[in-house]
Amino acid sequence: MRLSVEIDSHSGFCGGVIRAISKAENFLSEGGSVLYSLGSIVHNEAELGRLEGRGLVTVGHDDLPRLQGKDVLIRAHGEPPQTYAEAKRLGINLIDCTCPVVLQLQKHIRRAYDDGSSIVIFGKVGHAEVLGLVGQVDGDALVVENMDMLRDALSAGIKGLGGVVDLFSQTTKSPSEYREICNVLRRAVEEAGGTLNVHATICSQVASRHAQLENFAISHDVVVFVAGKDSSNGKVLFDLCAGANPRTYRVGSPEDVDSAIFRDGDKVGVCGATSTPKWLLEAVAGKILHLC
Ligand code: SF4
Repeated sequence: MRLSVEIDSHSGFCGGVIRAISKAENFLSEGGSVLYSLGSIVHNEAELGRLEGRGLVTVGHDDLPRLQGKDVLIRAHGEPPQTYAEAKRLGINLIDCTCPVVLQLQKHIRRAYDDGSSIVIFGKVGHAEVLGLVGQVDGDALVVENMDMLRDALSAGIKGLGGVVDLFSQTTKSPSEYREICNVLRRAVEEAGGTLNVHATICSQVASRHAQLENFAISHDVVVFVAGKDSSNGKVLFDLCAGANPRTYRVGSPEDVDSAIFRDGDKVGVCGATSTPKWLLEAVAGKILHLC
């Protein structure tokens, strides 16, 4: 079978993930034999396995009490203030890798809340970044994951709709969905006599990737999208590719590539999420070339 393969030059880790992983690797190469990561440092099983081989151990919040005096990394998603307070109480040394973009977003939410606004966040319920955002206001925020959830919340009645409402988005959500959420919420707030402030808080690296990735998907016969199964950004970007090109397939590793998806002469595009390492994209592309 003849196939040509192109790797999307814009795919690969975002700046926040690169920063967190290089901090962890520096720590481990400078003499630290073990570093605990509070939650997965990256939502990609293959990259996690590589880092675990170097001494990174993923733990949960329930593990913190037994980590007194140890080194614990906070990943790019960030954490709520309660985590910092608990770590301080336990004498845990935090290596804070919260992405600067997320830190800014946390700060803006706190400021709007302190000014008396009602907070609405467009984000995935239970996602680590969203828990960190909601934690800035002691949980006093409405999180909507999609349009259905927003409509349900509006039917049930949103607190403070007739006053000032501030709308934020999780950094990795879809820009087009955010615009729709914004339009529906704005109508409801204005009908109730209130004011809606919309904050452009989707990460610029994610937003620009949306437009570019759609073109990449259209310009190939078949798209192989590489992402870990828990990657929230992976789901959003996969859906985007699949919308642009119905011959889009998701894989987690080279072993998942099924030769049956290809036709002779296909131009194959390999791309991935902000949590997909370049080396994994190359390994998948290599596997596809081996089918030729
Ligand atoms: S997607 Fe953007 S905001 Fe989120 S970690 Fe990456 S660089 Fe930071």
